[in-house]
Amino acid sequence: MNTEKPWHSMPPGQVLVELGASRESGLSEEEAEQRLKRYGPNTLSEASGRTLLQQFVAQFREFLVILLLVAAGVSALVGELDDAIVIAFIVVVNAVLGVVQERRAESALGALRKMASPKARVLRSGEVRMVDASMLVPGDVIMIDAGDSVPADARLIETALLKVDEASLTGESVPVEQNASAVLPVNAPLGDRVNCVFMGSSATYGRGVAVVVATGMSTEMGKIAAFLQQEEDRTTPLQQRLEYLGKRLGIVAVLLCIGVFIAGVLRGEEVFDMFLTAVSLAVAAIPEGLPAIVTIVLALGVQRMAARNAIIRRLPAVETLGSASVVCSDKTGTLTTNQMTVKRMYVPGRTIEITGDGYSPDGALIENGQRVDARSDPAVMRTLTCAVLCNDARVRSVSVKGSAGAVTTRASLEMVGDPTEGALVVAGLKAGVDKIQLAKWAPRISELPFESERKRMTTIHRTDDTYLCCTKGAPDELLKVCTHAFDGTAVVPLSDALRAEIQGANVRMADAALRVLGMAQKELTALPDTVSVETVEDGMVFLGLVGMQDPPRPEARDSVAECFGAGITPVMITGDHKATAVAIARDVGILTPDSVALTGAELARMSDRELDEAVEKIRVYARVAPEHKVRIVDAWKRAGHVVAMTGDGVNDAPALKRADIGAAMGITGTDVAKGAADMILTDDNFATIVAAVREGRVIFDNIKKAVQYLLSCNVGEIILIFAAILMGLPRPLLPIQILWLNLVTDSLPALALGVDPPSRHLMQRKPRDRNAAVIGPVAVRRMLIYGLSVAAVSLVSFAMGLGWPGPMDTSAENLLVARTMCLMTMSFAQLVHAFNFRSYIDSAFRVGIFRNRHLVASVLISGSLQLAIVYIPFLQGFFDVTAVQGLKFLDVLLLSMVLLAVGEVLKWVGRLRGEQAD
Ligand code: ATP
Repeated sequence: MNTEKPWHSMPPGQVLVELGASRESGLSEEEAEQRLKRYGPNTLSEASGRTLLQQFVAQFREFLVILLLVAAGVSALVGELDDAIVIAFIVVVNAVLGVVQERRAESALGALRKMASPKARVLRSGEVRMVDASMLVPGDVIMIDAGDSVPADARLIETALLKVDEASLTGESVPVEQNASAVLPVNAPLGDRVNCVFMGSSATYGRGVAVVVATGMSTEMGKIAAFLQQEEDRTTPLQQRLEYLGKRLGIVAVLLCIGVFIAGVLRGEEVFDMFLTAVSLAVAAIPEGLPAIVTIVLALGVQRMAARNAIIRRLPAVETLGSASVVCSDKTGTLTTNQMTVKRMYVPGRTIEITGDGYSPDGALIENGQRVDARSDPAVMRTLTCAVLCNDARVRSVSVKGSAGAVTTRASLEMVGDPTEGALVVAGLKAGVDKIQLAKWAPRISELPFESERKRMTTIHRTDDTYLCCTKGAPDELLKVCTHAFDGTAVVPLSDALRAEIQGANVRMADAALRVLGMAQKELTALPDTVSVETVEDGMVFLGLVGMQDPPRPEARDSVAECFGAGITPVMITGDHKATAVAIARDVGILTPDSVALTGAELARMSDRELDEAVEKIRVYARVAPEHKVRIVDAWKRAGHVVAMTGDGVNDAPALKRADIGAAMGITGTDVAKGAADMILTDDNFATIVAAVREGRVIFDNIKKAVQYLLSCNVGEIILIFAAILMGLPRPLLPIQILWLNLVTDSLPALALGVDPPSRHLMQRKPRDRNAAVIGPVAVRRMLIYGLSVAAVSLVSFAMGLGWPGPMDTSAENLLVARTMCLMTMSFAQLVHAFNFRSYIDSAFRVGIFRNRHLVASVLISGSLQLAIVYIPFLQGFFDVTAVQGLKFLDVLLLSMVLLAVGEVLKWVGRLRGEQAD
């Protein structure tokens, strides 16, 4: 089968035949599987990932590693083979650690990308199903709805007002109306092929059915090679800042080392010794572990977020999440369950209750305590008929097993489509109005799809003698196009009094937190030349209202409270009626007595200045159109806030892009919204946004802890060496020993701090200022104090090894013991010190020594390694150490513990001074 044909010049029927596909049943699963083998997956090949070896080799390109390799080489040349071996060993261990971390981070992010991969609706073996877009093959019949991104190149075979935005392909940003029945000249340019859709474009309006003609690299998109090079930004601002900091520290370190080297040589020290000392100082000063730790902490955090249903699409969003101060959320499905049940209906002069719950067809219509027989009640019948005809949802019965494995089964309905519409179909069933039968009696021949700006939709049906137009929508919008009403017996003009009565019924239902839709219809003897909103939605006859219940999500209230506690303002933005919105917002706690609700119309009347003044008080926006969302985001941003915003529709994309964190709905969201978002909520849940904010804070905190810990260790090493030089003491640590400390023993605890459990204050403190430095003045002071303390205890330990407080003896034998003690003290002190970093304000005992099991394990491992090099005779030679016995060992332990005391005092002072909790 040749898939390179001028599909746009063939009529749809021929395309189907040529591709061996059927409009009714699509391809069979077997055929699709075979074609998948033949044509390969429908993906654009990415730049291939690096192999393990390449990654390993890449580690050796770092400046520090090169420096170390030179040092190893020089050591070997001057005959210091032991040093050369140890340096080489440490370098290799370091590189392996680097590769392991990179791999973990990559696989976490890779898994995430898979989760966010696009889906497609395809007809296979007669059934419509969702598949991964990568599984599509030529010949597949796909369905495209407004908001979907086009998953492959395809020839349209049916279109209903389908408009497609092909900007990514043709640069033309105005959506083009498509036409399946057009047959075009062979040489028609891409942009003019209105009967074809191309991968990478997206439907903005209407819907269509198409047959796939090209997949993967054979698509027009695949042919544009430049696109493949397009990389999403993968580094976060924090990573960039740390990289910059690392570079600056690196330069300072190199200058220091050169200075020390020259000074040493001038003083008459041996050149080779001074060279190694300078190198080891550089190692002590350059925070080489930082980038790797930050990457892994980010990746693991993002993985945890995914497990909590928040998929991050752009890594920088993780950091922004941590400083979010406003969360603007949709109502329906996000704060509510989106499980709609029609509870009440109104027809002129009457209110009727409808019993039953969920999508079960059990329930009845009750008026004044009496059951209503809908079949003999024209007003009810017409309203529900309209509600069911003007409707894209389908329900089908499934049997549900009784509880606790009981044998009994009961019928329930499974709903496919918009829950609002599903509820109407179920309400119809309760009154004996069946969608399948109705569709046979009055098949749909045209439609004006729902738009959130218009808040209405209309379908046109052919009956035996007329065309029946059915419109449903928000009552206020619907009434605008109604001139008459059906009062149960006759069509009467819609008087002001009746209008007022209908509005009253609408508000009463909305006040009871019901979501209200109105129904209207009209009959035409002939169709207008063009079916459009202007020609059809006019002069309609009002039929009735239905009110449906959509209860708040049980967890919404707690999440809202958590937001307030964390200094985050939750804001509800909904297309629904103000009264409904207010009732729900009160219920979940968003609307408090000191805040207000506004409608889209009121917002439209406000100037930007007026909005800026009021914005922090407005918690509910009702009856908004998507473009209002952009204004709301902008106003909050002008007030200095970091704004998260949810969205699902095509028209929400600009607001999602504009917000600091755009969050698209995973279930109800369109591909366009997902494409514009930084994050996807796979369960559409408000609580998930709050959980993601919490996780964002944890990630940032942990990166801070790991970075500050590592830097404070480095500071300690540098101070120690300088202090010894200044005091005229022999070198307290040998180059190899510094390498060991810096590259082996302190990296594991730093990693463990990167996965520290959250602080108890996490959601009780205000959002972090986005521009605040990771290492501010307080952090610098803290690192200096800790660094000084580590250096001090190590120096004391060294001095004690030499005989202090008695006279110091620097014989070779004594020096060996003293250096070993110094090394052990430094190493243990750093391990003990890691526990200080679990909280900046709470005592290490209060946060719990054992609560971070990774930290305990890493300290045990690093501690054991340290003991191994000191007490295993074979290793002693390599590191120039000796077994430290008895009291000396006790001294080392006690001195290391001093760090814990330093931490406690520092935190105590911090608490006294009322420093912000972490
Ligand atoms: P939210 O913005 O909170 O997610 P919403 O569903 O109320 O929820 P829209 O989808 O913009 O927001 O709907 C706006 C209004 O349009 C609804 O309040 C309802 O009155 C009406 N509406 C919603 N869905 C339909 C539909 N399928 N057909 C006709 N009218 C609808």
